[in-house]
Amino acid sequence: MTIDPVTLTRDLIRCPSVTPAEGGALALIERVLKAAGFEVHRVVFAEPGTMPVENLYARIGTSAPNLVFAGHTDVVPPGNEAKWNHPPFAGEIREGVLYGRGAVDMKGGVACEIAAVLDYVAACAGKPKGSISFLITGDEEGIAVNGTTKLLKWACERGETFDHCILGEPSNASVIGDTIKIGRRGSLNGTLVITGKQGHVAYPERADNPVRGLVTLMSALVTTPLDHGSAHFDPSNLEFTSIDIGNTVVNLIPGEARGRFNIRFNDCHSQISLKTLIERLASAAAGERVRWHIEWEASNADSFLATPGPFVELVAGAVREVTGQVPALSTKGGTSDARFIKNYCSVLEFGLAGQTMHQVDEHAPIADLTLLTNVYKKIIHRYFKQHAPS
Ligand SMILES: [Zn+2]
Repeated sequence: MTIDPVTLTRDLIRCPSVTPAEGGALALIERVLKAAGFEVHRVVFAEPGTMPVENLYARIGTSAPNLVFAGHTDVVPPGNEAKWNHPPFAGEIREGVLYGRGAVDMKGGVACEIAAVLDYVAACAGKPKGSISFLITGDEEGIAVNGTTKLLKWACERGETFDHCILGEPSNASVIGDTIKIGRRGSLNGTLVITGKQGHVAYPERADNPVRGLVTLMSALVTTPLDHGSAHFDPSNLEFTSIDIGNTVVNLIPGEARGRFNIRFNDCHSQISLKTLIERLASAAAGERVRWHIEWEASNADSFLATPGPFVELVAGAVREVTGQVPALSTKGGTSDARFIKNYCSVLEFGLAGQTMHQVDEHAPIADLTLLTNVYKKIIHRYFKQHAPS
């Protein structure tokens, strides 16, 4: 059996799977994959303080290599639905464009993966030369603790092994074929806390204003480069996102001032080296005078880079042949589940064009869904031609 990627994307959009709700999306995928001969597992993960989330692992074939397609069916909320010209969960098609929440991020990507794989499975009469698997989570847009990271661990404990993975996140900047993501920056959050002494604003000599220290240290942290970038990465970057003093009156020097920041970091740094560097910069700026400390938040987002080699070349070659574009190999953008998958196998990201993701009237041209499916078909074909045991 084969399936049309546009119909499948539309049907997935009609499942209201805002994180952490399953919304019927995984049930639909389970039905489709089972009918095509896959062994399908639905697994729920939970831990104290979080909502339980549904996940899906499916595989056809028992031998190596195991080519994995990964993705998520959860979506960000639509926001004010009155602002949408096309209802977010209707899956309307107008003039060759499919509208709805998740059209590009990433129900469209998941549907194209499934359509391409089913095409190959049908062509080989259900017996691929090796195995093809799907890792699909419902916890990517949320805190991502009951999703891919636990699904990989679960699969690994069952004895599953993975050789290469395509994650179908919207990797392209403007047209299908312009970008393959070969790595991602890490992300780390912290709060700079300055402790002063409260007092009357007219008698500053009796107080110690923490706002002065906050300005001094913030200035040092935003003006000193953290590194100068590396072969595949832009320089690491620190941005303050909030200054919190909470002072509602005009005649009071506050006792404490806080500045929240986020750092997106490249492969020049680990979380430890970054924390050491930031604290050294803060300490130098503070001198003896400013009392400060940093509250670091736990992070599961280190930077990573796929080793350039045959798999990158295979995917880039397939993209070039099908789209006529020479894809840039990029590490830009936010974090993705590739940061978990990279601990198990080599992973690249290639999907739809991301312009409208997380926006009102998110949409994907039908031509893009067809083109992406064709790219995936070409990747699968070449992969098993190259890797298949004869
Ligand atoms: Zn996504």
